[in-house]
Order: sequence, then C-alpha cells, then structure tokens
Amino acid sequence: MYSFSNITNLQADLKAGKTTCIALVEDAISLIEQKKHLNAFLEVFEHSAKELAKKTDEKIKAGTAGKLAGVIIGLKDNICYKGHKVSASSKILEGFESLYSATVVEKLLAEDAIIVGRLNCDEFAMGSSNENSAFGNVLNPLNEKHVPGGSSGGSAVAVAANMCHVTLGSDTGGSIRQPASFTGTIGFKPTYGRVSRYGLIAYASSFDQIGPITKTVEDAAIILEIISGIDKHDNTSSSQKVTSYSKEITVDKKYKIAYLKECVEADGIDPEVKQSILNQISWLKDNGHSVEAVSFPYLEYLVPTYYVLTTAEASSNLSRFDGIHYGYRTKNATTLESTYKKSRAEGFGKEVKRRIMLGTFVLSAGYYDAYYSKGQKVRRVIQEKTKEILNNYDFILTPSTPGTAFEFGKNSADPIKMYLEDIFTVQANIAGIPAISVPCGLHSNGLPIGLQLMANYFEEAKLLNLASKIKS
Ligand code: GLN
Repeated sequence: MYSFSNITNLQADLKAGKTTCIALVEDAISLIEQKKHLNAFLEVFEHSAKELAKKTDEKIKAGTAGKLAGVIIGLKDNICYKGHKVSASSKILEGFESLYSATVVEKLLAEDAIIVGRLNCDEFAMGSSNENSAFGNVLNPLNEKHVPGGSSGGSAVAVAANMCHVTLGSDTGGSIRQPASFTGTIGFKPTYGRVSRYGLIAYASSFDQIGPITKTVEDAAIILEIISGIDKHDNTSSSQKVTSYSKEITVDKKYKIAYLKECVEADGIDPEVKQSILNQISWLKDNGHSVEAVSFPYLEYLVPTYYVLTTAEASSNLSRFDGIHYGYRTKNATTLESTYKKSRAEGFGKEVKRRIMLGTFVLSAGYYDAYYSKGQKVRRVIQEKTKEILNNYDFILTPSTPGTAFEFGKNSADPIKMYLEDIFTVQANIAGIPAISVPCGLHSNGLPIGLQLMANYFEEAKLLNLASKIKS
C-alpha cells in the first residue's frame, strides 16, 4: 500500500511510476472499508472515483495531468458534486442528488483530483462534536470514546485515519479548525469571500467558508490556491488576486504576534493546553519573533453574538426545506400546510430545530431590536477591535479550543456548554478573517492540542507561512 506523505511527493512518485491513481483509489476504498466503524464516510463514490483514476493514469502517461493528479479527496456532506448524493447529514435531504457541482469541486476536478466519497458531519453543519448527524456519531481514531469534533468531524477523521489524502470541510464558527485540533490535523478557514460558496449547502451565509483539512500545512496551501478566487456564481467571492501560497510558505520571516491574554488566561482552559500554548510562545520568541500579550475585552460576547446571528441566518436558509422542493416528504399529511409542518418536524433533528426556533425568535418583530440588531452592532465592535489588533500585529494567537477532544455525551445535555466549545474559533468568522489550527503537542491524556493563528483579511500566504513553522 502506498504511504502518503504529502501532495508534492505523491506527484513525483506518480510521475516516476512508483504508484498509479487506480492503485491509490483501491487503497483508499479498502482502508475506508477497514475503518468503517469510525463512521467517517457516508458513501464511497467507487464507480466515479475509479473512472477518474483510469483517466488520470492516462493523462500522467501523456504528461498532461493536473496539479492534483491522484490526490484522493473526500467532501463534507454539504458540498455538492453533480450526479452524487448530498444530505448535510440530515434525514430531510435523504435521497437527494446534486444537480450541479460546487465551484470548489469543479476546480479540484480540473486539476485531476479524485473525489472518493462524502463525509459525515453534524446535521447542516450545526455542532461541535458530530453527535448531531442523522447518520450516527463519527469516532475519534485517537480514542474512540472521544468525539472527533464538529461539524466537519468526518472530514478530520478521514485525514487523521489515512482514509484519504485531503478533505474539504466548511467552517461557520470553527467547524474545520476544531475537529482538526481534536484529531491532530491541519484545518484552514479562509478569509470570507476567498473561496466560492457556490454549491455549499448554506448554514449562515455571512459566516460560511469552505476550506481544507490536511496532514501538512504545505498541502493546505496547495489546495487553497486551487480552490480560491472570484466566482461569477457567488457575489460575495472576492476579486483579490490569489497568489502562490505554497511557494510563499518557504520564505523565512520574523513576525510580530499578539496572543490574546483573556484566551490564554480564560477560566475553564485545560492547564496542559495553556502550558502547551505558553511553550509555543517561548519557542516563537527564541526563534526571533516578537510575541506580546494583548487584551481582547470582548471574549464573553463572542459566543452569544455568533449564536444570535447564525441562528437568524439559519432560520432563513433552512426555510427552503419544506418537503416539496427537496428530499424527504412526510407520508402522513393531508393538506399543503400539514405537508410542510410534518415534513419539517420529521425531517430535521433536535439541534437544527432548536436553531430554527432561536433564529425565528431573534428575527421576530418584537425581539428584532433586542437581539438581531444588537447582535449586528456587537459584530461590528468585535470586527473593529480585531482589525485594530491586526493593524499593529501580523497575527493573533490563541488555543484552538479550551480542551482536548471530550468524551461522547459530555456536553449533550447542555447546549450552552457545547456552544462554549467554540469560544476561540468564532472570532475569525465574526470578523471574516482567515484562521488556521495546527497541532502543537500532545496532552497527557494522549490527545492532540491545537494552536490557532488568525491574520488580517486575505493574508492567507502569511498565515500559512508562520503555521508551517509551528512545531507539533
Ligand atoms: N460549532 C459551531 C456551531 O455549532 C460551528 C459550526 C460550523 O462552523 N459549521 O455552529
């Protein structure tokens, strides 16, 4: 079986004839089968993956293959791939097939990547533990009693357990970075607008971004430079130039870094996570970077702001799932109205319903000013403060999460406790800036610890550059 290290080596080995795309697909399919109990994959696209592999092997022989030839990629189950099922891990989309491909999928296929299947996640990307999927929990391969993180849990596990080379996830409040942190992988959330959202099933449209989960920072850079760029199908995509992130990674630069005092000193942060972050700070200083503590006085407002605004957007986005247009329709209705009501009542899970209700409430005429409009104002305050810090520093550094991967069931009874798991990751989405989680050591419980770096708008190259230097 081919042992994958990174995309660059894979390209060289394919060219040298040390392996073939079809062999890589067969390896991936047999590993997915062997590790089925982790429940990372909802479906393997065996037929189309093998077809792509055969075509790509021909292209390699002819010297015409793209930059991602033979790279085996899994998609979070909220990214559309024409002619393939997509369900957002929800019963309400059971049986639904994508009518078109997401722009990111088109871009990956244009470089001859091989899409091998779709990955389990929290229903409609709402969750921090993957316990909200309609198709069961995903297990953390590093300790199967612990969650893999969410909502892109299947995407993180597929990379951590070597079932594919790279995966795509989506990040609305940490759903790429938090599972990356819990599984010892790299998770990158781009600047809002850097990557087209066309073909991503929307959760909260002013927060959502697609990004890669990979084994190395260099691979994240390679994938990101391919999926980024303006798209006529997404008006929020940016025309800002995409540079060669994977080349810029090698530059050796010294940076000015701010770490957020309140995050490192937060109540409830695991002492070993804190120590590991402090060790990284010393290491960065020893290596010529300047690192200073900076105050961020709005830490306690991050999670409430995030949950007021994202539930509002979700209640609007999810209104399209009505039992008529897509997927699941109740068999117990007699009128149009009862079709809507029963299809939604039967099709959505508990957490999704909670958020639709919360979102409807914060947007309701009587409470709009008190919640939604207030939330928008606080969002602006958080954005301004974040920008102010990034005008004086190259990066903001925090832990990715307050602790390591927790046990199944630990936060299930208390949604607020679960929502607080996102305390360090939501800032980047509220502000719209890019952020990455990289492994930065092991806890004595054997689970990985993640370090988060955030940078200014469209500074993905700089972010990847420093991230590639962090020692795990
Ligand atoms: N855990 C957060 C939530 O439940 C983030 C989800 C995400 O980024 N998609 O909303």
